[in-house]
Amino acid sequence: MFNVDKIREDFPILKRTVHGKPLVYFDNAATSQTPQIVIDTIVDYYSNYNSNIHRGVHTLSQEATDKYEEARIKVQKHFNAKEAYEIILTSGTTHSINMVASGFASLLNKGDEIIVSALEHHSNIVPWQMLCEKTGAILKVIPMTDEGSLDMETYHKLLNDNTKLVFSNHVSNALGTVNPIEEIIEAAHKIGAAVLIDGAQATPHIKPDVQALNVDFYVASAHKLCGPTGVGMLYGKQEWLEKLPPYQGGGEMIATVSFEKTTYAGLPHKFEAGTPNICGGIAFGAAIDYMNSVGFDAIAKYENELLEYGTSELLKIDGLKIYGTSAEKTAVISFNVDAIHPYDIGAILDKLGIAVRTGHHCAQPIMDYYKIPGTIRASFSFYNTKEEIDILVEGVKRAKMMLS
Ligand SMILES: *Cc1c(COP(=O)(O)O)cnc(C)c1O
Repeated sequence: MFNVDKIREDFPILKRTVHGKPLVYFDNAATSQTPQIVIDTIVDYYSNYNSNIHRGVHTLSQEATDKYEEARIKVQKHFNAKEAYEIILTSGTTHSINMVASGFASLLNKGDEIIVSALEHHSNIVPWQMLCEKTGAILKVIPMTDEGSLDMETYHKLLNDNTKLVFSNHVSNALGTVNPIEEIIEAAHKIGAAVLIDGAQATPHIKPDVQALNVDFYVASAHKLCGPTGVGMLYGKQEWLEKLPPYQGGGEMIATVSFEKTTYAGLPHKFEAGTPNICGGIAFGAAIDYMNSVGFDAIAKYENELLEYGTSELLKIDGLKIYGTSAEKTAVISFNVDAIHPYDIGAILDKLGIAVRTGHHCAQPIMDYYKIPGTIRASFSFYNTKEEIDILVEGVKRAKMMLS
């Protein structure tokens, strides 16, 4: 049974106040809060077995290595990858995407085409632009529609024999739209293109199955699913990870080194040069366990109730407009009130203890589409409540009164 009061007990930060008011944390799409069990995992690492992995014969190093590799298996199981070595532990989504983009620099030729969606986060636009500059490949964009969905008819027309790569997020961080990635992947594979899906915004709400999706690459960040910052994952099909050259040179990624020739280590170490975020990786595993103990079906059902309630309550405010009204959405509400600047409303909400994000949400092309400077984004998690949504609605009303 899903019990939100009990779940809130797991998150110590939810007890704090901001400007004398109880914290209402609605910035979950930027980063999620951390349950005590994950905090305990971090403290346990530094208190009891902090040590570098793989290199040492000593006990602490072996304990750290075992826990780190156990975490990799937790990630593998969670995403249903076939092999643990298909999971590369990275510093996060941005790092994972750059790893793939830089690897493709040696596989692309002038005139090859890369397709990205119009709903992308900057971290999924800029690396491809850099790749195109380097290789002479051409970037094509799947346009978006008024409700914030992808124009799939145009997508199918963009695909052709020159298409080598397709990139899309699973869920848009700015609007919450869930994209039809099954259809994107299947169509790209028909013409022999590889697909990378950015799951940073999907993974807090949906448990993806990379084998069922038949996706080539899938990336995510721990800090959006109750884990720490600075750690994330890259799933790649074995055949692709073997094709891509290493991203960085350094320790841990080699088999043998001499000044004449260096041979690279096998997967996953080929992509894991240097000392990784060991504690972060282990805590990522703990966060995955925690999320699964709450249960993704229960999370989706409850968050959907919050989304429906929040949408209908906010729309009662005169002059409030919601951006992103696709039928398939996660619990993100992006909105503006009249012509008031989102930042001004956000600043008043903060004084009331309410944390929302304001601005372009690293997705400027979407804001350009709607011809707005940005939005106020309230993003809900399974530890939020309807009472907190009521506080937000009252806060927006008050801000509107003060600013109009
Ligand atoms: C947060 C986010 C990113 C960037 O993640 P980092 O952890 O900052 O690397 C990329 N894409 C989407 C859709 C996101 O929501």
